[in-house]
Amino acid sequence: MQFVFREDAYARACEATVTQVDERGIRLDRTVFYPTGGGQPGDSGLLRLADGREIAIADTLKGATPDEIIHVPASGEPSVAPGTTVKAEIDWPRRHRLMRMHTCLHLLSAVIPGDVTGGQVGDGKGRLDFNLPEAKLDKAWIESELNRLIAEDHPVGARWITDEELAARPELVRTMAVKPPMGQGRVRLLEIEGVDLQPCGGTHVARTGEIGPVEVVKLESKGKQNRRVNLAFKQP
Ligand SMILES: [Zn+2]
Repeated sequence: MQFVFREDAYARACEATVTQVDERGIRLDRTVFYPTGGGQPGDSGLLRLADGREIAIADTLKGATPDEIIHVPASGEPSVAPGTTVKAEIDWPRRHRLMRMHTCLHLLSAVIPGDVTGGQVGDGKGRLDFNLPEAKLDKAWIESELNRLIAEDHPVGARWITDEELAARPELVRTMAVKPPMGQGRVRLLEIEGVDLQPCGGTHVARTGEIGPVEVVKLESKGKQNRRVNLAFKQP
């Protein structure tokens, strides 16, 4: 199974061969579809067959093993046999919005000190929870810091380190809720140059300027310690 999105988050489509089909969905030998995980929703899109038929994909999920991705067809879609060649195409406008917001949540975790206890990337919005029992957060300040880092247009890139290197640098793990996927020998690090470095397997834009202006919609207290920061893209 080749994860095309991991090497190139901007790949919108790829040729692939169906390897397995069951009640959970369709597996391919390679895919551009990101599976739900790390707070980022799975991709939707379609599988285009050589005879012109299309199979709408409603969601993408991880399978039982780390190298398994399941493309979940929308209900009532036609089936397909293993061995069939398809063109796998994601809903790119939606994915790009998810990439922009996902990258912005990295900036948010760099702006606010404190452990991240949870988070969710949504379509056009996103949030992170911080373990900050005492802190007084300033909505306007957070928003101006985020938009400053966006306007500075920092390069964003991924690289890999070994499990041993990560174990020796626990300060890299800011997110308590989403454990980095160790046990496969190596872990993917996402770096926003000069701003943030942490394990992440999600999809991101290439530069922070691509995020576009954002706003802090709401600060909430979620329980005794959790402070939730809700973001959205600024409407033009
Ligand atoms: Zn990420």
